[in-house]
Amino acid sequence: VSRPPPMSPAALTTPIPAADAEPRRWTSLTGLRASPVVLLSAIVALSLFAQVRVGSDGERGRAAAGHVVQLAREPRPVGSPAHDVARDYIVATLAAAGIDTEIQRTTVAGNSYFTGRVENIIATIDVPKPQGVVLLIAHYDSVLGSPGAGDDAVGVGVLIEALRAVKMRPPARARVVGLFTDGEEAGLLGIQAFVRDLLPHLAVTAAINMESRGSAGPALLFEVGPGSAAIIRAVADTLRDPRVSSIYPLLYGLLPYDTDFTPVREAGIGGLNFANISQAGGYHLATDTAAALSLSTVSHYVETVVSATQALAAGIGIASAGSGGEADEMVFFDLLGLWFVHYSARTQQVLATLLFVATVLMAGRALISRRGFGDLAFDLAVWVGAIVVAGLALPALLGVIFDAAEPSYSLVTAAASITVMALLSQLRRSAEDVMPAAAVLWAGLTLVLSVQLPEAAYLPLWALAGVLLAAALSRAVPLGERWRALVSVALGAGVVAIVAGPVVYWLAIADARLGMMAAALVAASASLLSPPLRRDSRAAALVFGLTVLTVPILPREPKTPVSHVSYGYDAATGQGRWMTNQQSLPPWDSALFANRGDLPGTFARSWISRQGYYAATAPPWPVSAPGLHVVSDSRQGDQHHIRLRLRPESRGALFYLYSTQPLAATIDGVALSSAQIRRGLNRQNQWGLRFAGAPVDGIDVALVFPADARPMVQVFEQRPGIPAELFGRAGRAAAIPMANGIIDGSIVAGIERIF
Ligand SMILES: [Zn+2]
Repeated sequence: VSRPPPMSPAALTTPIPAADAEPRRWTSLTGLRASPVVLLSAIVALSLFAQVRVGSDGERGRAAAGHVVQLAREPRPVGSPAHDVARDYIVATLAAAGIDTEIQRTTVAGNSYFTGRVENIIATIDVPKPQGVVLLIAHYDSVLGSPGAGDDAVGVGVLIEALRAVKMRPPARARVVGLFTDGEEAGLLGIQAFVRDLLPHLAVTAAINMESRGSAGPALLFEVGPGSAAIIRAVADTLRDPRVSSIYPLLYGLLPYDTDFTPVREAGIGGLNFANISQAGGYHLATDTAAALSLSTVSHYVETVVSATQALAAGIGIASAGSGGEADEMVFFDLLGLWFVHYSARTQQVLATLLFVATVLMAGRALISRRGFGDLAFDLAVWVGAIVVAGLALPALLGVIFDAAEPSYSLVTAAASITVMALLSQLRRSAEDVMPAAAVLWAGLTLVLSVQLPEAAYLPLWALAGVLLAAALSRAVPLGERWRALVSVALGAGVVAIVAGPVVYWLAIADARLGMMAAALVAASASLLSPPLRRDSRAAALVFGLTVLTVPILPREPKTPVSHVSYGYDAATGQGRWMTNQQSLPPWDSALFANRGDLPGTFARSWISRQGYYAATAPPWPVSAPGLHVVSDSRQGDQHHIRLRLRPESRGALFYLYSTQPLAATIDGVALSSAQIRRGLNRQNQWGLRFAGAPVDGIDVALVFPADARPMVQVFEQRPGIPAELFGRAGRAAAIPMANGIIDGSIVAGIERIF
């Protein structure tokens, strides 16, 4: 057997390195066309493009986008008039398609500080002998200051079109229920009401939730419910354009976010949670408009949900869905957005074991005759350094230079290139020396990860499989040195880029810093497993330079300074103050806060003072006191009963009620459990709650205190919007934010009563 040259992937299996091998000149200008780095860059670009690309605009997409235009004309928080318009539009649109709806009207005072009245819309498409129920969910309310085109009129538009598609082609075996929840933004109120009252009576076999956190990008599958293996198997072959990975649910699970899917998942229902997350600069702001929304996003979303719904409603596999159990864990990911690869965790473990054995067999001889592990320790130290540099310094640096708010795949590639260069500049020893040790360590890591976190272990597994394949190929097929290097990079680092590229990209979109760290880690791994990459320093520098040059010409996220100013009014003293808890203020607000002052009395004694609010003097303005009416106040035995009515000045207002901890409390007819009362509902360590959606005739609140106590009750009523004249009187150029529609202000009236 002739000894292969040291540049080749056969280094993995070659016992004795050619330590004094002549240096290879990959990097001459003429050599660039077949350079490993250039080849790898092309593969990285292909992998990222495959994620960003979204399909063409179809008829259903246009219809769904039409619903978004109708729904997202203005903010529609719970209880607001615009909210009623949205509700009526959904009901009327479905009725026109021959789909009946019911409305669940109820009050939720569930497990948290957030309470309120909600109106869920429930549409049912029945079949003669249903063997299951597919539940589709989207929320039709928005936050106070945003028209919520992305969040979540997109989901509502998609849900309407999915129901129309199902109606036109009724499923064979499952009933399809469309749930348009209310009060998601007010604390998941609508879905809590549904789970409490209606879910127990429906044999739901699978749920699909549709969320959104941006104006562009494909619909990603970012969360799955318990025991969703059967559901994944059922939809995998029908999704034409999947953007999926079992790593996304894993990462999402680490974040403190909740959606309507959370209570459904906690009720033991399996399912799929989708969201588009690109161009999220307008999230929860006035700029989340229908005009900013990408039509191809809506098209991709609606086609994905329609395919998944029809597959689930056709009854494929749904009988076993939701059964749960560890054996049910699935590994899945998309390849270039074209194929939905899926297999069980058990399969992952078997593959990892086989690869470990193969690696030890292939690398064992080479390992014994080399000093690989010592060198690898040095390499690991360089990795950590490079990751820290790329992950922490680069985003800050680029942010300063280019004012680039949105992470882009150029930045990710730049981070990767920097890491490769860091390795190139610091590693003087032969890459081939280290590679056998790296491969064995890698195989061991993959095996451990396959047991501990199978959902993530596919990344190192397929990277290693590519490296082993390259090594085997280079021994079996007589190739020139250059071709060996290219094959090695394509199957080693190239496979890493195809499999890990999407994860890095979406991580960067979700959190720039995390994305940079992941990019650096992946780049370091790829360069370690593909020795030819390390020689290619000039090509790497060229790619890096070109990448950085593209950054300024990329489309940027519109950065809109937003005002969250409130006019706080203390009804006891008639005193008004500007209030905000923003750390950095837009220019027009800085002028308002030139004269810092104290919060008005009632506010200073409330939760607000503990939320980092500060205040400034404000002109007097006629504000009516919060709608607090004492219905009765009596002592019975050792108890002090207080009945209040909270009556908002107008619809869409929010009430905040804080008091001495009561013995018992009933809010709008819903009695709080003793556990809720003991715990206190307010996260600010003060007993209280927030109520959304109070009608103009008000809601009842009954509180019971010990007879000897002198209970204190504070009520704040938050009314959306600040009159332009009030800003004008304060010298603020109210026209600037008003003209842009960027105003998230409110008037908050507060009052305190001692009983
Ligand atoms: Zn939402």
